[in-house]
Amino acid sequence: MKVAVLSGGVGGARFLRGVVAAVDPAAVTVIVNVGDDLDVLGLAVSPDLDSVVYALAGLADEERGWGRADESWHALEAVDSIGGEAWFRLGDRDLGLQLVRTEALRSGDSLAAVTVRIAAALGLETTVLPATDDRLRTWLDTPNGSFDFQHWFVARAHRDPVDRVRYEGATDARPAPGVLEALHEAELILIAPSNPFVSIGPILGVERIRAALARRRVPCVAVSPLIGGEAVKGPAADMLRRLEGGTSAAHVAQCYPGLIDALVLDESDAADADTVAELGVRPIVAKTLMHDARTRRALAEAALNAVTLA
Ligand code: GDP
Ligand code: CA
Repeated sequence: MKVAVLSGGVGGARFLRGVVAAVDPAAVTVIVNVGDDLDVLGLAVSPDLDSVVYALAGLADEERGWGRADESWHALEAVDSIGGEAWFRLGDRDLGLQLVRTEALRSGDSLAAVTVRIAAALGLETTVLPATDDRLRTWLDTPNGSFDFQHWFVARAHRDPVDRVRYEGATDARPAPGVLEALHEAELILIAPSNPFVSIGPILGVERIRAALARRRVPCVAVSPLIGGEAVKGPAADMLRRLEGGTSAAHVAQCYPGLIDALVLDESDAADADTVAELGVRPIVAKTLMHDARTRRALAEAALNAVTLA
């Protein structure tokens, strides 16, 4: 079964490992957020693409939740010691990938092309694509000013409450080559348990991707990133509270109006199932905490089986 998955970084990457354990990895295309991308130390960094690629290649640091396992930090320590920009954490091994990507982009390659090459070099069978090759950046408007995603998230530790999320460049951004094809060929579309505002939102900010989803002929199933109305990690619940007015599974479903047919929600949120159903979205109650290979795969299967139930 051909599957297309919309994904952010950490939550998305965890889920994807379950997906490729449950279906043929070569039949999966991942469409990844690039709204978090940044230029730092002269490097073109794409954190969510890297989280997905490292996870699928088995290279991710599972405890830290981002970056590579067996990492060291000598280069960044050297940067810091001479007064360079060291707020964004890039490990030594990770830097290797950043160098290759930056060089390729500078020589005229597209982000999609270099991503495909890196994934192939790391032995991935799954296709990993940026949502767009064009410049798309997430901005957060807060009472303390407007910040680009990484300054808000990393440098300011996402402490500023968010009044508005903007996707700079999204209106003009074209889907990267392969993205619309993957959505059209898919027999099932999945939205990973990623942050709806700052991971999935920027992908859907690309008009032709949103339109392809709105006009889908196959089911689209989202997985909630909340458990017991709280994020497993990160600002998703705070953002839902402030921007959607609550953190129930129905509030998550409301982030994807007209775009999803089913929502996988956690057992601890089972009481929300009726209000999800009232939105015309089929609620699928499952255990959604992914802490090992078995729970990742079980969650993927719950989402994949939503098709046969439909
Ligand atoms: P980021 O780009 O690295 O911030 O990652 P994502 O947006 O893909 O994932 C962040 C979201 O993943 C957070 O809202 C978490 O609540 C969610 N998440 C992380 N681990 C799990 C898990 O085991 N189960 C579920 N349901 N959500 C998770
Ligand atoms: Ca991210």
